[in-house]
Amino acid sequence: MSLRMRLQPEAIGSGLTSQRVRDRLVERLRDHGIADERVLNAIRTVPRHLFVDEALAMRAYEDTALPIGHGQTISQPWVVARMTESLLQTQPSKVLEIGTGSGYQAAILAALGLEVHTVERIGELLRVARKRFRQLGMNIRSKHDDGRIGWPENGPFDAIIVTAAAPALVDALTAQLAPGGSLIAPVGGSSSQSLVRLLKDADGNVSQQVLAPVVFVPLLSGLID
Ligand code: SAH
Repeated sequence: MSLRMRLQPEAIGSGLTSQRVRDRLVERLRDHGIADERVLNAIRTVPRHLFVDEALAMRAYEDTALPIGHGQTISQPWVVARMTESLLQTQPSKVLEIGTGSGYQAAILAALGLEVHTVERIGELLRVARKRFRQLGMNIRSKHDDGRIGWPENGPFDAIIVTAAAPALVDALTAQLAPGGSLIAPVGGSSSQSLVRLLKDADGNVSQQVLAPVVFVPLLSGLID
């Protein structure tokens, strides 16, 4: 597998962000059922501490969600790994993410060699995420928009990953999924959500399964600068 990024000295880290600390996170994920070596390798390689505020860098390799400002969070590594593992099963090459946030999930997908498109409604988060993509030499397409409309001009996508929760799957996104593709999204209210996987077969018929209970911030409408 090719891990497509250019690692600057600050991406290598030291002490609480060192390779040893990252390896420990990978072992924890393995113990908690993540088996796809490509995913584990991407988690080992992408410097999560560069996707949070410097003051939180020393907690970046704990298996927890962390605040990224604007009331949003970078997802828990186990959740990122589980969603990525599930998404790889249908062998996608072109992927759409809704909810760029810190940019970490998009970076994991790009490190796996996928063509990544990502949409974020909060302009400031997107600007910071874009800076990180540039710093890591990652070519990720992104736009500032309401992700509930997807990215129709660039679709269809082999896989779609939604990283904010809605009461139901969004029809516009299902419509932008290519035959043979999969869509992974948290579905539910603020107190209880399930990670749902939708598969679209070659004839366009869809089926759904529930993967795990999860907690995500809500999928909201409207743009913020
Ligand atoms: N994938 C992110 C997780 C960020 S949390 C990461 O790896 O860090 C979810 C993100 O979804 C937040 O940044 C939030 O602003 C964004 N979001 C919520 N509703 C959205 C919408 N309708 N369109 C695009 N992004 C949205």
